[in-house]
Amino acid sequence: MAPQALDTDILILGSGGAGLFAALHAHQAQLRAASPLSITVAVKGLLGKCGCTRMVQGGYNVALAREDSVERHFMDTIEGGKWLPDQDLAWQLVTLAVERIRELENELGCFFDRNPDGTVHQKAFAGQTFDRTVHKGDLTGIEIINRLAEQVWSRKINRLEEHRAVELIKSSSGDSLAGVLFIDMRTGEYTFVRAKAVLLGTGGGPTMYKYHTPSGDKSCDGLAMALRAGLPLRDMEMVQFHPTGLLAGTHTRMTGTVLEEGLRGAGGYLLDGSKERFMQHYDPKAERATRDLVSRAMFTEMRKGKTTPYGGLYISMAHLGPERVRRDFKGMVERCADCGFDLAGGLVEVVPTAHYMMGGVEFRGDCSTALPGLFVAGEDAGGVHGANRLGGNGVANSTVFGAVAGDTMAQWVLDQDFRAPDRAAIEAAVAACELPFRNRSPSDIHSLREKLYDVMWDKVGIIRDAAGLAQAERALAGLDAELERCSLPDANRAFNLTWHDWLNLRSLVAVSRVITASAIARTDSRGAHFRSDFPDTGSLEQSTFTSLQNGQLTMKPVAFTRVRPGESLLKNAA
Ligand SMILES: Cc1cc2nc3c(=O)[nH]c(=O)nc-3n(C[C@H](O)[C@H](O)[C@H](O)COP(=O)(O)OP(=O)(O)OC[C@H]3O[C@@H](n4cnc5c(N)ncnc54)[C@H](O)[C@@H]3O)c2cc1C
Repeated sequence: MAPQALDTDILILGSGGAGLFAALHAHQAQLRAASPLSITVAVKGLLGKCGCTRMVQGGYNVALAREDSVERHFMDTIEGGKWLPDQDLAWQLVTLAVERIRELENELGCFFDRNPDGTVHQKAFAGQTFDRTVHKGDLTGIEIINRLAEQVWSRKINRLEEHRAVELIKSSSGDSLAGVLFIDMRTGEYTFVRAKAVLLGTGGGPTMYKYHTPSGDKSCDGLAMALRAGLPLRDMEMVQFHPTGLLAGTHTRMTGTVLEEGLRGAGGYLLDGSKERFMQHYDPKAERATRDLVSRAMFTEMRKGKTTPYGGLYISMAHLGPERVRRDFKGMVERCADCGFDLAGGLVEVVPTAHYMMGGVEFRGDCSTALPGLFVAGEDAGGVHGANRLGGNGVANSTVFGAVAGDTMAQWVLDQDFRAPDRAAIEAAVAACELPFRNRSPSDIHSLREKLYDVMWDKVGIIRDAAGLAQAERALAGLDAELERCSLPDANRAFNLTWHDWLNLRSLVAVSRVITASAIARTDSRGAHFRSDFPDTGSLEQSTFTSLQNGQLTMKPVAFTRVRPGESLLKNAA
């Protein structure tokens, strides 16, 4: 099956905040170039309709208010990240977020909520010392992605929709990237796209856990491809659980979807199955503590057995006044009502749900990676958030670094030629995708997925220990082997969703193994990673981060380039 071939100067994988900002910035930058560049966005779903940026509810962190500052936003990010973030990347995040939000409003046409005096309204989000989350009601991502998509549609930017990237193909010399192999999901045929620069913007997505929030198109494909290409992945043990996933039974896909952070920020209570508050026993900030603390407290309470009918806990907002809740959280109230819950006046069942991967491909401030020709931005990129991402820093991260990547790639391609691909690598990648059609032992993809969900939730979830992680390691190796043997009917490849499920699982199991290996290596507890056998944080001064490359795990020291543990950039800090 020889793939079709296409050429483009800049190839962008994914159409979330990272991908679309990269496309717009590359397009803007190329207007200054002598000859136009060809820019292509390739995406597994439909442009503007897929990925997690569209699902952003709460909003976008940025220091706009006079009483706030980028230094304060930076310190919140570093302290929230438990001193593991790359400080220069975090600094870029907080400073460029100010530019990006202006661009979103003034150039791209986003409307965000405003105060009566005309200033942008900023709401409270947990784990922050200032109310700095810009929002459009509680459905901020739809506003951002709709405006970005309109701008991309109106420019000469090529689109390959329902194209699934399956392998990064290196040059024949092996020292750089030549392009990307895709499956055109509409036909099942292969296409090789040669590109001078490629952006990995496929958005991570911890969908290997029983309860998870990200969109169904996200299955860690980008991270799995980067892993196979030999790129270092850092902080992979750091998987963030959002405390308030909706729990509405196994019959609905709404289970696991997120009820936004602003509910706790506004003063919502978490209650156990006996309708008692419990967060005050775990942290002085109670429900407004960071996500890791709240998720862990909830998991501990669930283990005690005082749970709701579906086995979780409750969130209660009624004490804030049902009218206010209906007004301020319209989308959330409607979502809960769809599942039979009254958020404004009653109780809603919730469970911690896997939400975000802080880990990702190691990258530099200009979004370049160790592989020349490959750039990374958004949730695929590691290092910005360290051990914990503040709510509201995710979409800031994808839009800030997406734009940086677009600018960098437009400049970088100017003195690059197309590189000849390693043809054997393309053939090997096609053969790997075709594997289940050659195998003969019938398999049940559904039960493989359930096994993955259970092992990751039970053994590599919110509370971990050496014995559980070792069991998970063995179980995941077994799942890998089962996937290798798995056979699918050699049927029509067009929109063959069982095949894509198999490909999803292939990526998820590969990345789950990296999460597990990194969790085994980190023998302390930081942010999202909690080991009951190593509950201490360890020395902040001696902080190290995990980095896995070609099967080798190393602990690398964190460089405190701007502030050391115990210090602060805030002038009046104690
Ligand atoms: C329910 C929910 C609510 C959230 N709320 C907030 C919030 O309030 N504030 C905040 O800051 N963050 C929030 N986040 C996190 C935020 O959405 C992410 O941090 C951010 O949007 C990620 O952007 P991205 O561009 O990296 O990825 P995404 O927006 O997820 O885009 C990834 C893209 O890659 C495509 N893709 C995936 N695999 C492939 C492949 N193999 N080939 C081609 N394309 C592929 C996808 O189809 C998609 O287009 C939320 C996340 C969720 C799930």
